[in-house]
Amino acid sequence: MKRLFALMFTFAVLASSASAQTVAFTNVNVIPMDRERVLANQTVVIKNGLIAEIGDAKKVKLPKDAVRIDGAGKYLIPGLVDMHTHLLSDSDEFPDSIGPAELRVMVANGVTTVRFMIGTPELLALRSRSAKGEIEAPTIFVASPHLTGREQGNNFVVNTPEEAREGVRKSKAAGYDFIKITTFIKAEVYEAAVDEAAKQNIRVVGHADSRFVGVERAWKAKQQIEHLDGYMELLLRDDAPMKGSVSDLYIYNPENWKSFEYIDESKIPEVARRTVAANPYVNPTHHFMKNSFGRLRTEEEIRKQPDFRFYPAKVQQQWLDFYKKNRFINTVPLDQRARWIQLREKLIKAIYDAGGRIMTGSDTPEFLWLYGFGMHHELKALKDAGLSNYAVLEAATRNPSMFLGTIDKVGTIEKGKRADLILLNANPLDNISATENRAGVMLKGKWHSQQELNAWLDQAAQAISTSFKEHKPGN
Ligand SMILES: [Zn+2]
Repeated sequence: MKRLFALMFTFAVLASSASAQTVAFTNVNVIPMDRERVLANQTVVIKNGLIAEIGDAKKVKLPKDAVRIDGAGKYLIPGLVDMHTHLLSDSDEFPDSIGPAELRVMVANGVTTVRFMIGTPELLALRSRSAKGEIEAPTIFVASPHLTGREQGNNFVVNTPEEAREGVRKSKAAGYDFIKITTFIKAEVYEAAVDEAAKQNIRVVGHADSRFVGVERAWKAKQQIEHLDGYMELLLRDDAPMKGSVSDLYIYNPENWKSFEYIDESKIPEVARRTVAANPYVNPTHHFMKNSFGRLRTEEEIRKQPDFRFYPAKVQQQWLDFYKKNRFINTVPLDQRARWIQLREKLIKAIYDAGGRIMTGSDTPEFLWLYGFGMHHELKALKDAGLSNYAVLEAATRNPSMFLGTIDKVGTIEKGKRADLILLNANPLDNISATENRAGVMLKGKWHSQQELNAWLDQAAQAISTSFKEHKPGN
């Protein structure tokens, strides 16, 4: 018995997620993200996975055993949070075994916390393996299998209030972190889901399908809304002949793109004010929406993307064909697309100005945008929407940590917080693209140079791109 206990104890120590390595960043510029400022010439000491000390390089004594990382001319920021992503291995066409490689792609891009927006049992298992330190992975949050009115895979189909309540109870019991809502849910079914979620003490996040639920109802429920779903419809004038504009599944109807003639922009400040009053945390997934539907890439552009090589040849071809053949993609005029992007950006800026806490979400890996890489596109997209570089960094670090309830542990650079950090070669407050110019990433106190991370990327590209399996119906 004693012997067994000792073995178990050894295992527990080995499996602990915090790195035992002591590391010191020397002479580094720190962007702590408590407010807009740069602390020049700092020494940051990391012990047991936590920030043990931070202070002026002349004053902080370096522990003898510390591995030193020269931070001269470099900038330390908190790790990035992707609040909306998925894995290729969530689908039947990819084996679950590539999950850890997919997570490494995120870390290699500086993403140290993620929220998966459609839950599966495999994602719960990865969450647990990450927490135990068994895999090099971001800290993981998992929303439930989505509640939907129609069968779409990885879901609870809910068409009665009782089905909605059951879906919520099962999700809570299984250990999911949020209840995810998508589409085709009738209003009274949605209300039941929200009511049950309150009883079960679990938050509701996701879409606000304008055909059934609508933003007004989602505001009342204090739901955290993704994609600015339903917002274009809120801006329609009362005399508009159509009810649908360009949100959610309405996007796919070219007729709805004509609705911009009936948009009343003067509604934007009130919409922003009511958003912040209901739930200030908004995750517009703006890059994904803008660059998948608003701005079309040429095949040449797609092939040049650094994330293209990660997709299996067959998946690459499926998406390239989708872009070539899709009726919607080819019929919506460019000026309507440009107007849509402009309206979305006005909404994002207005919500921010009204006190909203914008968050970053890549909504990858569909449409040939891969997680990790997609986060940096999202930072640039929010910058283009009119946010300052500091506000963009807040959206990627501090704001999600506040929403997730982890800000006392992570999300800013302060003594005692978890050492999820990125070392950049340039100042992101000058140019947000600096997040793509990394010297390395520290994950839970363990340092990985970008050179090492690039090798991870090569391995992951190989593993993922060769892993596609034909989907066999019924399996
Ligand atoms: Zn999604």
